[in-house]
Amino acid sequence: MRRPLIVGNWKMHGTRPQAAALAAAIRDGLTSVEDREVAVAPPFTAIECVAHVLGDAPIALAAQNAHWEKEGAFTGEVSPLMLQELGCRYVILGHSERRQYFGESDAMLQRKIRAVLHAALRPILCVGETLAEREQGRTLEVIQRQLEGALLDLDPVAIGAVTVAYEPVWAIGTGKVATPQQAQEVHAAIRAWLHAWIGVAANDIRILYGGSVKPENIDDLMVEKDVDGALVGGASLQAESFLRIVQFRHRQ
Ligand code: PEP
Repeated sequence: MRRPLIVGNWKMHGTRPQAAALAAAIRDGLTSVEDREVAVAPPFTAIECVAHVLGDAPIALAAQNAHWEKEGAFTGEVSPLMLQELGCRYVILGHSERRQYFGESDAMLQRKIRAVLHAALRPILCVGETLAEREQGRTLEVIQRQLEGALLDLDPVAIGAVTVAYEPVWAIGTGKVATPQQAQEVHAAIRAWLHAWIGVAANDIRILYGGSVKPENIDDLMVEKDVDGALVGGASLQAESFLRIVQFRHRQ
């Protein structure tokens, strides 16, 4: 059984007081979550104060990126070890904004995934096609290339520790959500590839959907059998909408 995971990606939003207030509102509004897992990914500068506010609430901390080295002359970067020290459990890697604006390649992601796992953190690997790629009928080819580029040289145990987030680029921050069927088609293909690489262990890998997830569409997305949770951007910046997403109706 895969335990659903809902992750709020705060991106570059929130001073420390703003982040602390949002974290407190999520902490205080959270009702029973035994059958699901919740995480928030504040900006680096707010991770420590959010950790303090969350205390022992059942909300994990995630980072939005990490470098592949432990330390060194890499101005502006943050290492997995530093994130582990702050109490992070997850690290989002390969978000389309990082691929698009900061030139992150699949080869870099492979190094990052290894480093994150080495620091006993769990990578959330984002993959997704652009609108042009979807319109050309190349969605599955693009996702397969991204998965192979980032994962194929890893050993099966390492691949088994990765969470995948399918985030169609055309759906991120646009209000255009993939239909549950579109999401399921890609999630099923991702699981089939993982199955071909690592066998039945692929059944335990969580595949999240991301892209304009809102309180209005989460229940329908979560009905799909290979949708194991969500990576939420804009709607995670308001406690009320994030909490409603966290309280999605469980699939039967
Ligand atoms: C994201 O950035 O990961 C994301 C899914 O954003 P949004 O929910 O705002 O589309």
